[in-house]
Amino acid sequence: MTEEIINFEDKRGDEYLPFGIYIHIPFCKKRCNYCDFTSVADDNSNFIENYLQVLSKEISASLSAVNSYFPKTIYIGGGTPSVLSEKQIVFLFENLYKHFSKQNCGGNIEITFEMNPESITLSKLKILKIYGVNRLSFGLQSFDDSILRYLGRIHTVNDFSKSYDLARNLGFDNINIDLIFGIPEQTLDDWKETLTKTLNLNPEHISVYGLTIENGTKFHSDGISVNDDLSADMYKFAIDFLKENGYHHYEISNFSKNGFECLHNINYWENRQYFGFGLGATSYIKGKRIKNTENIKEYLGEKFHLEFEQLDEDKKISEDLMLGLRLTKGFEISEVVRKKYSQNISNLKKLDLLIEQDNILKLSNKGIMYANHVFREFL
Ligand code: SF4
Repeated sequence: MTEEIINFEDKRGDEYLPFGIYIHIPFCKKRCNYCDFTSVADDNSNFIENYLQVLSKEISASLSAVNSYFPKTIYIGGGTPSVLSEKQIVFLFENLYKHFSKQNCGGNIEITFEMNPESITLSKLKILKIYGVNRLSFGLQSFDDSILRYLGRIHTVNDFSKSYDLARNLGFDNINIDLIFGIPEQTLDDWKETLTKTLNLNPEHISVYGLTIENGTKFHSDGISVNDDLSADMYKFAIDFLKENGYHHYEISNFSKNGFECLHNINYWENRQYFGFGLGATSYIKGKRIKNTENIKEYLGEKFHLEFEQLDEDKKISEDLMLGLRLTKGFEISEVVRKKYSQNISNLKKLDLLIEQDNILKLSNKGIMYANHVFREFL
């Protein structure tokens, strides 16, 4: 295994430093039936505290090396960050803010915290406010309790509604709701109802994900499969319905009101630099992708970095294109891209999967439905 601390010795201007910081909190009360994320179904408080201690060392090792670094976004994701107790949330932010003052970030830093309804309390939300969290992302998934049970989620619709109201009453005015479609127990009418009830809450941002059955999940071992045609109908319905109701479809799975696009994630899709801290997290710095171990024992033993990949020019171009095409505004084609992929681009245009206008390449409406097919052309 290769070990290396992220090195910033050749300090350059601020624009060369990572735009955002991702922090992974890998704990969940229970593993959902479809989940293949890096998560540990254990919310034992000592275990979490050990993790937070090691995480703060990892953060210090990188951020102490950076002069005057002020991130534009911070994203605390998981797992389930809201399983952290009040004290643990305070510990996490106090350690992070040792390295930069949030006030020096220009006042408009986007700070997202992911939450699952069963572990949200008023006191946790108040602490998040104090530490400057200004964007919440709720894992709702469905407005139907029987579907939530089928997915192995441990919250109910009622838990969600209560926690959403708490957040709104405290003044959180940038909220995302995550939803899943293409679930075997779900009909098109169920999906329409979930979308309608979501819209009634007027969230600033909605993410919709088609269920996929991944190796190692309970659904995979149970032999569950997705009806691809029905799933495509649900996706198509969501795109039309959310657009008709004032949401901007800015990325394959993401919709927002104007001005509420997730800046942290846009940075990924524009293939710019970021720090990732915690179990299984990835950083992308100076053309190098650094992946942390996914083994919790290794991580707690402070063996953070598992893999390093220096992207060569070809790989970088291919990634720029595949990530950039996820954004509905499209991707500006450079001469290098045109030269390398002219045949593939021309084939995809003939199939009505890509459109080009003023040197900007985008997925067509049909291409959005078959995005994975398009991306395979650029691997
Ligand atoms: S809450 Fe999210 S991260 Fe945790 S097991 Fe469920 S899907 Fe996975």
